[in-house]
Amino acid sequence: MAKKNQATKKVAKTVKKQKPVEIKEELLLQPPRGMRDILPKDQPYWQQVRRVSEKAAADFGYRRIDTPIVEFTNLFTRGIGTGTDIIEKEMYSFTTKGGEKVSLRPEFTAGIARSYIQNGMQVESKPVKMFYIGPCYRYDRPQEGRFREFFQFGCEAFGEQDAIVDAQMIQMAWRIVFQLGIKNVTVHVNSIGCPGCRKQYRNLLVSYFESKRQKLCIDCKKRLEINPLRILDCKEDKCAQVAQNAPQSVDHLCEDCRSHFKDLLEYLDELEIPFEIDPNLVRGLDYYTKTVFELFAGSIVEGAKRNALGGGGRYDGLVKLLGGEDTPAVGFAIGMDRVVNEMKKMGLKTYHPPKARVFLAQLGSFAKKKSLRMFESLERNGIIVAESFGRGSLKSQLKIADRLKVDLTLILGQKEAIDGTVIVKEMASGMQEIVPSVKLIDEVKKRLKK
Ligand code: AMP
Repeated sequence: MAKKNQATKKVAKTVKKQKPVEIKEELLLQPPRGMRDILPKDQPYWQQVRRVSEKAAADFGYRRIDTPIVEFTNLFTRGIGTGTDIIEKEMYSFTTKGGEKVSLRPEFTAGIARSYIQNGMQVESKPVKMFYIGPCYRYDRPQEGRFREFFQFGCEAFGEQDAIVDAQMIQMAWRIVFQLGIKNVTVHVNSIGCPGCRKQYRNLLVSYFESKRQKLCIDCKKRLEINPLRILDCKEDKCAQVAQNAPQSVDHLCEDCRSHFKDLLEYLDELEIPFEIDPNLVRGLDYYTKTVFELFAGSIVEGAKRNALGGGGRYDGLVKLLGGEDTPAVGFAIGMDRVVNEMKKMGLKTYHPPKARVFLAQLGSFAKKKSLRMFESLERNGIIVAESFGRGSLKSQLKIADRLKVDLTLILGQKEAIDGTVIVKEMASGMQEIVPSVKLIDEVKKRLKK
């Protein structure tokens, strides 16, 4: 017995001695695949895209809306459609600690339509026009122009079925890329009809592709069952060849869809927007009806796979599908990452914020303290000021002022801080003057005007 006790004690001792094993996962100093930082050096491109897009949205009467990045998964499955690549393969979906099934938004339209219904926007005067800007997430294979986190700017108009709004959407999207300097853009348009005429067209398409089944890729063989329209824009060469002779949706539109499409083309002619009818353009989401369009930059080598800069279309059934009133709607999204890429390739102009024309230098601890407030009051009065408060030596601060090519340098030394004055130095002439702090703003403004 005693022996056994001793043995147990020994085991207990060893167990006590063991340190908890710390498992250190390797820290990867990089974001997840398909995601990236947009560094300060690239921000001027993004800022330019935001400015031009937001200006166009404002000019056409669109107001901004922000919706959550995360929504309930079934909003997307219901809206975008179960047979689509986005839903089948590309959603970032997870269950929260509270058991909610949610997804990162793969696009904005479903979320905005949800918000439109939830917030009773159908009572507002039509069309209800909104724009958005922000990130989307698709778990796709990253490649040139295709990221897992990417940014879209887009517009949605609810409550108007007239093709003139479709034309205005294309006009806006086209104007944005044109104003950014991408001038060789072609719009591809098509009409995929309404659920009525599409049913008949879908049957025709299925029998056509059934007869060519052997020549289709594995994915398209599956699409034949769940989403035959998507075979038309498959990127595989063999499928593209088969698709070339497929029946075209524009030849099988009902009267209403045909005249809608005809109106749209007339409006585009009137706007002198270069467009091509692209019978293979169907786009990846189930909710589209009638008009679909995409914008392509012509600078990409003929024949090479081209990435669309943006696209959109009409989605007359979506609001009802999500539980709202029957509401026609149309929208577009521009892929900001791709637009920025194109701007870089073409060496286009970026946004440069106004430069500081005044530098505030300080010397001594009392002056340093005072310069904080002085900086704020200059900025509040619309004067952009540069500084390097961390530096103690006047010489090094003046060197920076020189480098920044400012017009004026304000010098606040210990004496000036006590006297309530500032030295104003005009950099071009080197002339200096002592100015009372209370008059500083007016003095600076007067001199900058010169
Ligand atoms: P979609 O919602 O698929 O019609 O996309 C609208 C636009 O967003 C496209 O024309 C692209 O410019 C852009 N876009 C879509 N998916 C991606 C992605 N994975 N990476 C970068 N841009 C994308």
